[in-house]
Amino acid sequence: MGFQASERVQEINAKLQAFMDEHIYPREHEWDEFTQDPVNLWQTPDWFFELREKAKSQGLWNLFLPHEYEPWSPGLSNIEIATIFETMSKVSWAQSVFNCNAPDRGNMEVLAKYGTPEQQEQWLHPLLDGKIRSAYAMTEPQVASSDATNMELEITRDGEEYVLNGRKWWTTGAVNPHCKIVLVMGKSNPENDRHRQHSTILVPRDTPGITLVRTLRVFDNLHSPGGEAELLFENVRVPVSNMIKGEGCGFEIAQGRLGPGRFQYAMMFVGMAQRCLELMCARAEERVAFGEKLSKKTSVQHEIARCRCEIEQCRLLTLHAAEIMDREGVKAAMAHISMLKIVAPSMAQSVADRAMQVFGGMGVCQDTLIPSVFTTARFCRIADGPDEVHMSQLGKLTIRDLAS
Ligand SMILES: Cc1cc2nc3c(=O)[nH]c(=O)nc-3n(C[C@H](O)[C@H](O)[C@H](O)COP(=O)(O)OP(=O)(O)OC[C@H]3O[C@@H](n4cnc5c(N)ncnc54)[C@H](O)[C@@H]3O)c2cc1C
Repeated sequence: MGFQASERVQEINAKLQAFMDEHIYPREHEWDEFTQDPVNLWQTPDWFFELREKAKSQGLWNLFLPHEYEPWSPGLSNIEIATIFETMSKVSWAQSVFNCNAPDRGNMEVLAKYGTPEQQEQWLHPLLDGKIRSAYAMTEPQVASSDATNMELEITRDGEEYVLNGRKWWTTGAVNPHCKIVLVMGKSNPENDRHRQHSTILVPRDTPGITLVRTLRVFDNLHSPGGEAELLFENVRVPVSNMIKGEGCGFEIAQGRLGPGRFQYAMMFVGMAQRCLELMCARAEERVAFGEKLSKKTSVQHEIARCRCEIEQCRLLTLHAAEIMDREGVKAAMAHISMLKIVAPSMAQSVADRAMQVFGGMGVCQDTLIPSVFTTARFCRIADGPDEVHMSQLGKLTIRDLAS
């Protein structure tokens, strides 16, 4: 097992690093000031779109899509993607400059994997081009949504249309004016067995009958320009051709959507945590308290050492999961993906927490990305499936593998 980055990836990564240095790090605070200003709610600065065009023209585009999706994919393996994701995750909004952000990347993967040629033409191509954005609506307020088989939104066939009725919440991105398509999971076949009752269907965002009930705040932050929405679906009609893969495939699609996505999430946390560590070291070297630099204090040295160990452990685990996915497929990597889901957000949360402490007051204000890493890592321990669900899954897999 060797994790030496290929020459191709070293080249892409160097280009990406140069792009981050020239265009992204210098605008880090400008982005925050713009997007946090209530006057700009759900808007993005003009220069953001210019950066996207620049990234596209340099081939730093859609790098998340693994080689099995060629011709749409730039042709990288999972292990190659992992290295690149670490680099592009060191600034919280940078993934979207390279069209590699959630939830679009998961939705593009669903459409590439299961979409009909017509669905791909209408929705996948503009998403890959970065012309539109998308959302994924599974979670519902009235049921425990960590169990995807609980979803209740009704999908009923009426002639050549499906009719949707129900309520969704936590639909990331649905508030953004560029969001044009929502992948909605609902119950279409209650007569089937539990894992074949649901479907995923394409619903254009402007379809009559969809009401934006409210936006949700996450740790009191509206997450503009993406935003999390509560949506009401009342007699929402779409053509039968909008069904993805077929009736009863919703659970399978939800599972498929989360496999590779989970692995990319993990490398995002490695990138975020590494950035926190870099900032923490620089601060410890420059800040003097009680007659010496913070970097001279044993307690600070120990916290930095702990961060480095935890980040490196997670990085190696991510690369190992990616290597198994490349060699044997996603199914073979399920145990490692579960391990990552358990380890990665908690690791980033602890690293951000320690960095915050070393920064003192500055560590909790808008001057660094540390608070955003801390809160993102915390909510991802729920949003990407609660920790407990991943632990139960890993426990069961481990017992199956080791009990005999
Ligand atoms: C910021 C953010 C963005 C999100 N974006 C999206 C999105 O774009 N689209 C979307 O559809 N959803 C999204 N979600 C929703 C997210 O997927 C759900 O919150 C998640 O699946 C958990 O479902 P729930 O909130 O209903 O919690 P529940 O299912 O009610 O679970 C609550 C708690 O019960 C416990 N629990 C659950 N299962 C088990 C178990 N098996 N063993 C032990 N304990 C257990 C856990 O402690 C868990 O945290 C987002 C959430 C957040 C916070």
